[in-house]
Amino acid sequence: MIAEISRKTTANKKRVLFLVHRKELIDQIKNTFEFVGVDTNYVQFAMVQTIVRNLDKTLTPDLIITDESHHGLAASYQKIYDYFSDVRRLGFTATPVRLNGDGLGGINDILIEGVSVEWLIENERLAPYDYYAPKLMQQENLKIGHLKEFTKQSIDKELESHKAIYGDVIKHYLKLAEGEQAIAYCHSLDSSLKTAQAFNDAGITAKHIDAKTNKKERDDTIQAFRDKEIKVLCNVDLIGEGFDVPDCSTVIMLRPTKSLSLYIQQSMRGMRYKPNKRSIIIDHVANVNTFGLPDMSRQWTLNAKKKVKYDIETPVKTCIQCFGTYAGIDRKCPYCGHEQPIEVKETVYEEVDQDLEKVDKFEMKLNFKTAEECSSLKELQELAKEKNYKKGWAWVQAKRLGIR
Ligand SMILES: [Zn+2]
Repeated sequence: MIAEISRKTTANKKRVLFLVHRKELIDQIKNTFEFVGVDTNYVQFAMVQTIVRNLDKTLTPDLIITDESHHGLAASYQKIYDYFSDVRRLGFTATPVRLNGDGLGGINDILIEGVSVEWLIENERLAPYDYYAPKLMQQENLKIGHLKEFTKQSIDKELESHKAIYGDVIKHYLKLAEGEQAIAYCHSLDSSLKTAQAFNDAGITAKHIDAKTNKKERDDTIQAFRDKEIKVLCNVDLIGEGFDVPDCSTVIMLRPTKSLSLYIQQSMRGMRYKPNKRSIIIDHVANVNTFGLPDMSRQWTLNAKKKVKYDIETPVKTCIQCFGTYAGIDRKCPYCGHEQPIEVKETVYEEVDQDLEKVDKFEMKLNFKTAEECSSLKELQELAKEKNYKKGWAWVQAKRLGIR
C-alpha cells in the first residue's frame, strides 16, 4: 500500500517524505519501491532523528508517510509534522496505540482499519497458529516502571525464584515444537544468553544476537539460521520492527510486556505465510492473558480519552493438560480434547486508564509522597499512578481525607 501510494504520488511529480525510526526499515522499503516502480527521484527516505535536525535543509514534501506510526506522538515526529504543517500525512501501523494507552488522535484525523488478522489467516496471507501458554512466570509479581513497562529488576527477581526456568523452556520446546526453528524473545541480555546456553547444553544449536553484536557476526548468524544450522535464535527486542529474519515457525516468549505493539510483533513473528505451515507460539509469560490471542478482534480508536480495551468479548483459556490456549469458555480443549476442571478462572484483561494525566518518561517528580501530602484528587491520582496503586485508590483516599 505504501509503495503504491508513493508510486502514484511520484508519477505526478509530487514529493514523498518517508519517515522511519530505524535504518533497516529504509533498506526494506527501498527494494519494494523499486519493485513497484516508484520514481525514487521524488522520494526522500529519512530517519526521523536525522530530519528533525535538518528541517531547514529538507525539501518541502507533498506527502509525508510515517512507517510504524504508533511512535508518531514522540516529540521528534511532532516537530517534523509542525514544521510541515500544511503537508498531508499518512501513517501506517499494526497497532494504533501508544504504550501508555494514548490513542493517536493528536496527529491523525481519520483512522482507517485494514483487514483483520483473522481475515489474513483465512485468506492465506498469514499462517494459522497454535498457541500454548505454559506459564513460567507470574505477572502479578512484576512491577511496572515509569515507561509503563515491567521493570527489568522485577522480572529478574521473578526468574530467580524459579530455578528450573531454562530447563523448562527446553522441555516445552521439545514437547511442543521439537525440530522447529524458533525465535526466543527474552527480557534481558543475560537471560537471552542463558536461554541460548540452555538450548546448546541440550544439544539444540542456539545463538544470541543483540544490537551490539557486530554486523558481520550478526549477518553470519542470520545466514546460519536461514541455512538451518541454527535452530533457535535468542534476542532482546532486536527482532522486531524492521528486522528482517528468515522464515521460521516457532516463537518462544520469555519477555512479559505491557506493550501491545511488542506483543503483536513478537507473537506473530512466525506467522509469515507458507502453504501447510502452522506457527507455534509458546508464551511462557502469560502475555496472552493481557492481550488475548493474536487474531482476536480489537477495537481501535484515535480517542485518547477513551479506555482502550484490547479485547472485551472473549476470555482466554489454557488447557491444564497440553497448555493449548484458546478463546472462549469451552471446557473441552480443542487441542487435545481434555476436559478442563470446573474451576473458572476469569481472565483479567488489561485496561489502560487514560483518564489520568499523560506522564512523560523519567520526567515525573511529584512533590507529594503520601496521600496526606496531597491537596487535590488530581494529586492523589498522580500519586496513585506513580506508585502504581490500583484504580480507585485515589477516590478512597480523597474520601478518607475529605479532599475533593
Ligand atoms: Zn489440551
